[in-house]
Amino acid sequence: MPERTDTAVADPRTPPSIEAAEALLARPLLELVFEAATIHRQHHDPRAIQCSQLLSVKTGGCPEDCKYCSQSARYDTPTGRSPLAEVDEVLDAARQAQANGADRFCMGAAWRQVKDGAEFDAVVEMVRRVKDLGLETCVTLGMLQDHQAARLAEAGLDFYNHNLDTGRSHYGNVIGTRTYDDRLATLERVRAAGIHVCSGGILGLGEGPRARAELLAELAGLDPQPESLPINQLVHVAGTPLAEEQALPWTEVVRMIAAARVLMPRTVIRLSAGRTEMDEATQALCFLAGANSIFVGDELLTTPNPSPSGDAALLARLGLEPLRRPDRTCSTAAATDAHDPSDG
Ligand code: SF4
Repeated sequence: MPERTDTAVADPRTPPSIEAAEALLARPLLELVFEAATIHRQHHDPRAIQCSQLLSVKTGGCPEDCKYCSQSARYDTPTGRSPLAEVDEVLDAARQAQANGADRFCMGAAWRQVKDGAEFDAVVEMVRRVKDLGLETCVTLGMLQDHQAARLAEAGLDFYNHNLDTGRSHYGNVIGTRTYDDRLATLERVRAAGIHVCSGGILGLGEGPRARAELLAELAGLDPQPESLPINQLVHVAGTPLAEEQALPWTEVVRMIAAARVLMPRTVIRLSAGRTEMDEATQALCFLAGANSIFVGDELLTTPNPSPSGDAALLARLGLEPLRRPDRTCSTAAATDAHDPSDG
């Protein structure tokens, strides 16, 4: 059974220039995939897939203006609002995720930033108790201060997710209420507290190849590089300003995964939101190109995800195995169910 591979990353190489990342993205696709697959095999068990499950612990009503997000209070979207979940409720969901084969439980709150007080105290307690279950822990709570990062670290937080979203030149077209440098400062605080960094981006926000190269160069230039890097595709949600944005061709998603793998050999790369729109062959190519993590479970915060039975069947068909489950696959019980190819 595969061993854990996402240990701290300390790539001593010179950070890539934007031009170098751009040139990588422009390479013939299969040559790029071949190089990425070769590098992937040097640093990771190619059969191992890390499985995370994500729960929204506080949904909607966010004051930020991220133009892709159904949780922004500025847009009229189908996503409702709910207050911070009870700790016991979150624990039940974490136990269920663990039973389904997840090794990491991620909790997301639609906040601009962490504020000290009862709600943050409750999130710290969630982290502590989820960790006690034997799961890895991850939260995404917006911007945070040094002392808040320290409290989360003390509670046992393994990862903090805070995406850069897109390249610096395109960022202002997507988000106006916080800057790129705000995001980088948050990542620095996370790193300084000794928490692993989970940071990636979203494809299909109307950006061009140059902005995608900027994103890759920025992430690969972090020192150390992120331990975890989600690559999301935009999920088009009615009511958001980007609802009608054209989806990227699948080839660009594969290119991003492959280029990320070449530039960040030891990082665990998560094929994240948007998998419901990908067919199995495209996902397989992403795994070949270096993606070695997925979210499992029917929902990602507020958007759909392939069914656990579909994912279990897909992994089985590809000969892949969850990273840390010697006794079961991602939802073994469901793996024998008939798979509907339409759920990804
Ligand atoms: S992406 Fe996060 S910060 Fe931006 S609007 Fe949505 S919940 Fe708020």
